[in-house]
This record gives sequence, structure tokens and C-alpha cells, in this order.
Amino acid sequence: MSALPRPVDDCTIEPTAALEMVVRGASLHRTLAAIAGIVSGENPSARCAILLFEDERFTPAAEHNLLPCDRELMRSFQLCSTLKYLNDLARQNGVEVRPLMTQTAELIGALVVFGMGQASNASLNQGLEQVCLLATLAVEQKHLTEELSYQAHHDPLTHLWNRTWMEGEIKRVLMAANQAKTNVGLAAIGLDRLRVINDVLGCQVGNELLRQVARRFLEAIRSRFVLARDGGDEFTVLMPGVSSEAEVAEASEKLLQCFNDVFRIGDHELIVSASIGTAFAEPASLSGPDLQNRAHTALRYAKKRSPGRIAPFHRSMVNIPPERLVMEQHLRFALQKRELELYYQPQIELQTGLLVGMEALLRWNHPALGFISPGTFIPLAEEIGIIEEVGDWVLEEAIAQKEEWNAQHLPRFRVAVNVSAMQFSRNSFANLVAQKIRRARIQPRELELEITESLLMTNFDHGVRQLSLLRSLGVLIAIDDFGTGHSSLAYLQQLPAHRLKIDRMFVREISHKEERPPLLSSIIGMAHALGLGVIAEGVETPEQLGVLSAMNCEEIQGYYFAKPMAARDVPAWIAKAMPGAVLIPNRSEELLLRNC
Ligand code: C2E
Ligand code: MG
Ligand code: MG
Repeated sequence: MSALPRPVDDCTIEPTAALEMVVRGASLHRTLAAIAGIVSGENPSARCAILLFEDERFTPAAEHNLLPCDRELMRSFQLCSTLKYLNDLARQNGVEVRPLMTQTAELIGALVVFGMGQASNASLNQGLEQVCLLATLAVEQKHLTEELSYQAHHDPLTHLWNRTWMEGEIKRVLMAANQAKTNVGLAAIGLDRLRVINDVLGCQVGNELLRQVARRFLEAIRSRFVLARDGGDEFTVLMPGVSSEAEVAEASEKLLQCFNDVFRIGDHELIVSASIGTAFAEPASLSGPDLQNRAHTALRYAKKRSPGRIAPFHRSMVNIPPERLVMEQHLRFALQKRELELYYQPQIELQTGLLVGMEALLRWNHPALGFISPGTFIPLAEEIGIIEEVGDWVLEEAIAQKEEWNAQHLPRFRVAVNVSAMQFSRNSFANLVAQKIRRARIQPRELELEITESLLMTNFDHGVRQLSLLRSLGVLIAIDDFGTGHSSLAYLQQLPAHRLKIDRMFVREISHKEERPPLLSSIIGMAHALGLGVIAEGVETPEQLGVLSAMNCEEIQGYYFAKPMAARDVPAWIAKAMPGAVLIPNRSEELLLRNC
């Protein structure tokens, strides 16, 4: 049984003074003790206690002038779980009880007055009501302050600490570490593709994912480290007292392992990955903001260069932000300024040596920054929210180009267009393609869409639905970069695709001896068994060509035949590389049909 708080002092105060204490936010214990004293001030024989009602229990919060027998009775009051029991018990013992109710009729406590006798009269009644009001105000004020403080320091979604609190905590921990001569580690964690999940499956799923991630992180760090959600898709883990950078890496590895299992949300099974940037501070080496900046710089680096992995901070990374900022600004205007251009890379059928397709590859030629690779600016365009505009333009431009080539009677090869994650995740994407195809003077099967495998794996069911819709329009579908992501051949059979594009990573692995790499061989075999065509990209050498040909890979794309070229150079290249093809339109029709 907890001991009753002692009264602050025995002197009683005026109600206005107690009100002032409430307004000034004096401690609840002192304020309630002062309020309990008001009753004795008005009726010297009265002794008073204030109970708070929490978790279906009345707990003593303040008392004034109680006698030992009053305290004895208070112990039984504490056993009451409802106001009715309390009232009954009080009535039996001749004690006055008044509930403390908020304006929304919520019971938050009770005022208990001993020794009132039968002295009840109107003015005394009014006095007690005033005291109850004051006590209620004091408790509500405290709750409100607590609530505000909770909100100020917590993330409402996951109930983890928030960024503001973490900033303060990092400073506090660094100060203590400087004195104790210990090290501090910090990991900034970013979920990959949360935006796509929100876009495709809705924010509810995204929110639930964040909650589940928070739970897994808490389990992983136990009580050793401190976890906060920075907002959006980012979390931070503060690691006080770590012995070395290796320990930070080890702890971060544990955090990454939280993503080994799928996340089950409703009917969805999501495969999610995260990237981590880490920073490490020896005693008195860094300020709080420096440590945070380093971890976030490393995170940005990880997201860009090694998504799904850990990147410890390194000085060479600090140049990224300004560069990126400049690029961001320029990219926003690149379309208007016509700085984007499509290059085309031929795709050749091995058996016939004929041109069967051209992959459209985006180029950004900036007058000052020079040539910027799509690998750099496409993720940036996704991040700053202009990828749809860019993707739209690519589709429009590639179709228009194809119309022009058809008008020039070039052989009827297909044009392949890369589709980004954000574009593909929109439910309206298939409609958009349908619209463009309808308006264009090309056959649907002259357009191939390249969808990366990792994009499909983010939400497999949605991916399959979207692909089926696209396929029903008559356009061709290729699975790009196959073999680089969480690929699973088991999933492959469910994909309504026409072609598998083997990533150039596999092609690079083909050695000079003409033996067949077993993995590549089984991927090609499996694709054929599923009725899919196979194209290998990044073919640079005759050896690679020979091995791929021996494995029955039908089509090839790579520097061996041609590098990506400007659209205006395509007719001349065709005329030179395959003389005759341009002159036989019927033959090209036949080619087209064979590739559908
Ligand atoms: P990807 O779709 O896998 O494109 C193939 C990349 O490999 C291209 O790089 C191409 O130039 C390069 N390549 C082709 N043959 C060879 C070779 O023999 N050796 C080597 N080392 N490389 C070769 P690029 O043009 O830099 O494009 C990189 C990626 O950017 C593309 O990979 C694609 O994912 C993305 N991308 C390009 N254009 C677009 C676009 O219009 N929209 C979207 N969403 N993504 C695009
Ligand atoms: Mg591609
Ligand atoms: Mg590729």
C-alpha cells in the first residue's frame, strides 16, 4: 500500500491563490495539497483528501489534516473500482465524497471530506463545488501538459520518439560521452520504396508497414539503443557507449536483418528493404548536428549507390548534397528546355542477324553540367516527383519517333521503352498507354515496355494485374535487369510477359572459355520452358555472343553491335549494318510478327 503524500504545509490558502497555482502550472502534488487545505479553511473541523481515478483505481494524491482513522478508511477507498462503490462506502462511514468530473463527463478523481458531520448547508456546498472545480482544473491542466509534451516528443504513428526529441537526446548523450570518454554511434535508416507502397496500396498499408518495422527495430535493439522515427520513411538509432565503428556496423546489420522476412499486411505480403547510413563519434570529436548530418549524408549515399546496404560515413561523401541540389534545380527545367533526348540501341536477332528492336534510352545533355547518366537522374526525378512527366514524355517521344521511322519505311522493328517504378505503380498507367497507342499510327506490338524485376517484386499482385492490362492492349512486355533483384523463377511463371532481359551482370560473367555458366543456362532454359523469349543485354565481345548463341538466347543487345545512338543516326546505321533490310518492307512485317 503506497504511503499518502505528506501535505505541503498545514496552513490553508485562498481559492484564488490555488487557481493561480493551477494557471502557473505548479506541480500537481503541491496544487492539490493546497486545494485540499481550502476545505479546512472554510470548515475547521473538516479534513480533506483528493483521490485520482486512473486504471479503475482511486489513488490518493493529496490530503489535509487527516487523522489516523481517516487514513484507515482511505485504504478501503483505494480498493473501490467504481464511483458507486466509493459512494456507498463513504455513506456507510459518514464521509462526504464528491466526484471530480471533466466537462466531457469523464471521472478523473474524487474529493473526500471527513468530519463534516451534519453541517451541510448551501454555502458549504458551494464551497465544496468550487474546490472540486479547482481540483478538476488542476488535474486536467496536468493531463494537457503531459499530452502536449508527449505529442511534442513522439511520433503519433509508431509511438516512437520523434526527430525533435532525438536531436536533444543526441546532444545529451554526446555531452555525457565526452565526459565519460566513450564513443557514440548513429544509424540513419531509410526504407526503400515506401512511396511506391503508399501510392499503390494506399497509406493505410504504408502506415501499418511503418508500425511493423518499428516493432521489429525495437526487438532488434532491445533496450541497449534508442530508436526514433524521423518522419516519412526514415528512422534513427542512437548507439551510446559503442566500442568501435565495427560495433556500429554490427548493430546496423541486425537492423537490416529485420527485413529478411516478408511483412504481412492484410492480404499483402511485402518484400521491403532498407538502406542505412552510419556515423561514429569519438569523445569530443563531433557536435550533435554534425553526427546527424554525417549519418544522413551516408544514408543518401547508400540509397543512391548501394540500396539495401549499410554505408558508413566517409569524408568523400560530403560533396553529394550541393551537387544534388544544383542538379535538382536543373532537372526541373530540363524538359522545358528540351535538354532531354532519347538515344536508341539496336536489338539483334541472333539467328538471322536482323534488327528486331531499338531500346529508347534517355539522355540528359546539360549545357553546363554536361552529360548526366539516367542511372543518376532517373532516381532523382522519382524523388522530386517529376518522373511521371518525364516518363510521359519518353513514351510520347518514342512513339512519335517510331511513327516517323515507319513513314520512312524503315524495317518494322519494335521500340522498347523503360518504365520507372513510380509510373508503373499508378493505376492509371495502363490507361495512359492505351490512350497513346490509340492515337498513334503504330501497331501496339511495335511498342515494348521494359519493367524491372525489382519493381514487380515490390507488390507482386499489383504488378501482375498491371501487366495483364498492358498485355491485353497488345503491347509487348519485357522483364528488364532479370537476375539482379529478389528474383525468383517461381514468380516468373505468373508474369504475363513476352520476354526476359538478362542483365549484363550475367553477361559480364561469361568467361573466355566457351563453357556455359550454369545459372545463366538454367535461367534461359526456364524462360523458354515458360514460353518467354530471351534477350541478353550488355554483350560486348564475340566470346559472349558465342556462348549466348550456344545457349539458344534469341536476341542480343550491346556494344558489340552498337552503342546507343541519336535517333537521327538510326537510318544510316541500319543501312550500313544490314543493307537490304530497309528495302524489303514485307520481310520486316514478317519479322515483327515473329517477335510478338
Ligand atoms: P537498362 O534499361 O538496363 O539499359 C541498359 C543500359 O546498359 C543502358 O545504360 C545502356 O546504354 C547500357 N548498355 C547497353 N549495352 C551495353 C554494353 O555492351 N556494355 C555496357 N557496359 N553497357 C551497355 P543507360 O543508357 O545508362 O541506362 C541506364 C538505365 O537507366 C537503364 O538500364 C534504365 O533502367 C534507365 N533508363 C534509361 N532510360 C530510361 C527511361 O527513359 N525511363 C526510365 N524509367 N528509365 C530509363
Ligand atoms: Mg532497359
Ligand atoms: Mg537492363
